[in-house]
Amino acid sequence: MIMRLQKYMASCGVASRRKSEELIAEGKVRVNGNTVTELGFKVEDGDIVEYDGKRIVPEEEKVYIVLNKPSGYVTTADDQFGRKTVLDLVEGVEERIYPVGRLDYDTTGLLILTNDGEFTNKMTHPSHRINKKYIAKVKGIPTEQEMKRFRDGLKIEDYTTAKARIKLLRQFSDESLVEIEIREGRNRQVRKMCEAINHPVKSLRRTQVGSLRLGDIQEGEWRYMTDSELEKLA
Ligand code: URA
Repeated sequence: MIMRLQKYMASCGVASRRKSEELIAEGKVRVNGNTVTELGFKVEDGDIVEYDGKRIVPEEEKVYIVLNKPSGYVTTADDQFGRKTVLDLVEGVEERIYPVGRLDYDTTGLLILTNDGEFTNKMTHPSHRINKKYIAKVKGIPTEQEMKRFRDGLKIEDYTTAKARIKLLRQFSDESLVEIEIREGRNRQVRKMCEAINHPVKSLRRTQVGSLRLGDIQEGEWRYMTDSELEKLA
């Protein structure tokens, strides 16, 4: 890499190229320990560039990935038991991405991965109350009364859940499919809520996060989020 100092500074997020030119002219930038005021100055790999006495490095390009997580993968970067992680599924992406929030080992469906910390905070901070939609196969067939308790809020361990949605989609002889929407995201919350109404989860798939839908991405496959999906989410 060889580039003009002002372009390098812009790529570090210090300021626009134009503004960076001013900062250079003002003598605020050093390269390898020497103050540089010449605007045509070029930097290359290995050069140490400092602005206001602090080293600056180019920001990574931000990437946003939508994955359909299969069962049998953890959503942490490493696993102490050596289990497969969702990062094993995303090959060929150079940026250091990580999952936005968590899905249980057995849960399938929509998982976002990114290297954008601000976006991650926005998506996971409880105050933003982003809606998450799931399809669960549960044991038995929930009654209207049980579903009302689910919707109104349930006492789970030391907290009471916020209002939620649940809709019976299909029923079989000894199990059923329900669609669930929650705005919270506590550990194993959907499983605990279903258990609290005596219909434990047999399988769980996340289909939507905010306005973002899983669509027809196959399990284990991923794609980049589109600009319009990102705009609507963030
Ligand atoms: N709720 C759960 O119980 N598990 C998940 O993986 C996600 C939400």
